[in-house]
Amino acid sequence: CGIVGILGGHEAAPRLVEALSRLEYRGYDSAGIATLHEGRLDRRRAVGKLVNLSDRLVHEPLYGRAGIGHTRWATHGAPTERNAHPHRAGRVAVVHNGIIENFRELRDELQAAGIAHETETDTETVALLAERYLNEGLSPRDAAEQTIARLEGAYALCFLFEGEDDLLVAARKGSPLAIGHGDGEVFVGSDAIALAPMTDRITYLDEGDHAIISRTSVEIRDEAGQIANRPVKIVHLDA
Ligand code: GLU
Repeated sequence: CGIVGILGGHEAAPRLVEALSRLEYRGYDSAGIATLHEGRLDRRRAVGKLVNLSDRLVHEPLYGRAGIGHTRWATHGAPTERNAHPHRAGRVAVVHNGIIENFRELRDELQAAGIAHETETDTETVALLAERYLNEGLSPRDAAEQTIARLEGAYALCFLFEGEDDLLVAARKGSPLAIGHGDGEVFVGSDAIALAPMTDRITYLDEGDHAIISRTSVEIRDEAGQIANRPVKIVHLDA
């Protein structure tokens, strides 16, 4: 399983699929990507091998320079297309590896507020929670930060928001996450190997970190919410 994210200078979909293929060694049962095209969020998902997703993209392409992608190893909810990531709630799309331990509590809280789930996954709860914060008037960044602060468990996460072509929010707890620095482009991956064709300049998030990412800046904060300076390393991997 793996996650990737791209704020790029050209079409994201083929690069997302290529990056996911470099994470295939981790195992997965379904895959999906979401991109922003003219500000609008759209996604494609497929059960089984990545080739099923790329075949679908031939007939139903996704355009746009910003996107997120996922290979799933199901823990909550069967390996179906409906349960595949990216999960979407309104303006929020999210990919997640790991397990949100307190998702039942959060789901009950959302249900009590009249917000229904469509899937059995722990991840959909994350998307619904962020969308709820947006509806309360929070900015996408604040909504993501508030959401992350509510989560217990192990996760690598990456959020993409409708209308926000220059924003990814990524977070890590118990699951590794790397940020790749390109020229006017930024990438996210579970493993630097996923990003090797795009860049060798890598920053690893520390445990509990989250990052607010645009094409021109990467702001990393630690679990206490303080700005954290994480080094940029040159990571030579076979592209
Ligand atoms: N717990 C999530 C799910 O079952 C993510 C699984 C993963 O790490 O791929 O959808």
